[in-house]
Amino acid sequence: MSYLVLARKWRPQTFSDLVGQEHVSQTLKNAIDGGRVAHAFLFTGARGVGKTSSARILAKALNCESGLTVEPCNSCTTCLEITDGNSVDVFEIDGASNTGVDDIRELRDNIKYLPSRSRYKIFIIDEVHMLTTNAFNALLKTLEEPPPHVKFIFATTEPHKVPITILSRCQRFDFKRIALPRIVSRLRYIVDQEGVQISDEALAVVARKGDGSMRDSLSTLDQVLAFCGDSVTDADVAALLGVVDRRLIMDGCRAVLDSDVKGALEIVAQVDSFGYSMRQFCHELINQFRNIAILKAVGEPGELLELSDAELAELRGFGEKSAHQDLQRHLSILLKSEAEMAHAGFPRLILELALMKMAALAPAIPVQELLRRLDTLEQGGPIAPRSDAPRPQAPAARPAPQHAAPARPAAAPVAAASASHASQNSNGSHASHSAPAAQASPAAAATGFAGAATADLWGGFVRAVKAKKPMLGGALEEVYPVRVSQGHLEIGCLQGSFQLTRLQDPDQINELKGLAQAHFGVPTQVKVVALSAPPSDAAPTLSEKKSLEDAERKATLRREAEAHPLVAAAVEMFDGEIAEVQELPRKEATKS
Ligand SMILES: [Zn+2]
Repeated sequence: MSYLVLARKWRPQTFSDLVGQEHVSQTLKNAIDGGRVAHAFLFTGARGVGKTSSARILAKALNCESGLTVEPCNSCTTCLEITDGNSVDVFEIDGASNTGVDDIRELRDNIKYLPSRSRYKIFIIDEVHMLTTNAFNALLKTLEEPPPHVKFIFATTEPHKVPITILSRCQRFDFKRIALPRIVSRLRYIVDQEGVQISDEALAVVARKGDGSMRDSLSTLDQVLAFCGDSVTDADVAALLGVVDRRLIMDGCRAVLDSDVKGALEIVAQVDSFGYSMRQFCHELINQFRNIAILKAVGEPGELLELSDAELAELRGFGEKSAHQDLQRHLSILLKSEAEMAHAGFPRLILELALMKMAALAPAIPVQELLRRLDTLEQGGPIAPRSDAPRPQAPAARPAPQHAAPARPAAAPVAAASASHASQNSNGSHASHSAPAAQASPAAAATGFAGAATADLWGGFVRAVKAKKPMLGGALEEVYPVRVSQGHLEIGCLQGSFQLTRLQDPDQINELKGLAQAHFGVPTQVKVVALSAPPSDAAPTLSEKKSLEDAERKATLRREAEAHPLVAAAVEMFDGEIAEVQELPRKEATKS
């Protein structure tokens, strides 16, 4: 007795046998029950999902001797003939080999005659999209005015190639890719009937190979049974189908998530020793990390994931070990490596590098946390000039191209500040202003008017005032420290400025005297003078200083951020660039 391949032996004979296409059988059932059976059907969907089987079941349903029914008897002559493919009234035409207009003409001539035995003449045209335009046109005439005794069932994997004029005359059914668990349970039923010993895991491997197609899954099972006989081991299936052992993939995931670099490399060695393709293994890892990520994201994946319960439980455990961001980073490393493998000659090396990178990956840190850490770093390290604290050495100590050259004397920042101030305030004649300013500053520094000492004293005083009298302190930020020394404070305000009017008030001067004595510890003379222009040899006002320092700090922050390993890692991970460096609001602790 000749061997009948499983796909034919177990071809579904009723709609209830048809796995995964309940939406089709239900609609057809309703149509048949309601007596509204269309005269042309179009079955679309991937290969091996049951289109042709459904066409035959429908033909039986229409012609069964027990009457129009959605569950044909499968025992009457007509049903048996259709099953065997030799019914005189059911014509199966392969669109791929009967594409011409002559074939269709012949069909049209045939259509005229009544069915010889059955209720309907049924034409099943498989791969209907292969017909030529002329053939379609010929077919169209028939479809426009079909004799009542004729039914058409078209099947195609590529409905977009079927002319709209044909499509619009058909009742269309879209067949779905069959979910893996459905295929597995059908395979389980079949192997049990066949008396074959095989595990569910192995059946899942077989079904996966079929990729949603029942026919392909059954062909694969045929191949496995031909090789292994009636007792099939998991290893046989893996070896025969060239699929990577599921265990290795799981172990690979575990090694990565446990940061076990050595374990990960050993997995690669095993993959190599079994002769699996590195790229295939990488594919499987990508798939598995996708599964973990989806599981973590949605909890109950339903039909999103095609996994057995055991696998689901194991992957859930993996998901608990890592954060979403980390899973995404793992995936992006794997995807990048997979693409590289396609072109490079060292797939093993690429896979090893990828797994080492993944296993050594530091946990992802949210951007806000990253910024907070940078902020902390600022407070402890040399990164953060306080906005209200003068830092005369800062520009010279670090490269700040837009600011002072490193060779400048200590007073250079002030000079540069004065110079840029002058250029801002002199309506374009900055060249004549800035040159003398730069020359004047060493002298100023020498007399203590605008040097580091002045800036420190003045800055400290303004801070102290601000702490007690915020408004007054704010005003002092806008004016120039003309002379600041022990016992002497000379403040310059621009002529006509609000600050001049305010600070010249005797009450304010007295208040400043009191504050200065409290701050410096000695009785202090306070003098407020009117300036016609910002003094070129005086220190800038604190607010000017602040805006300069703000610009400088932003540049510094950016440099620090770019140099920070976490940021560098993030940039590499996302293949991105730093768009903006934001400063977090300072904490209370830094204000003292
Ligand atoms: Zn029947």
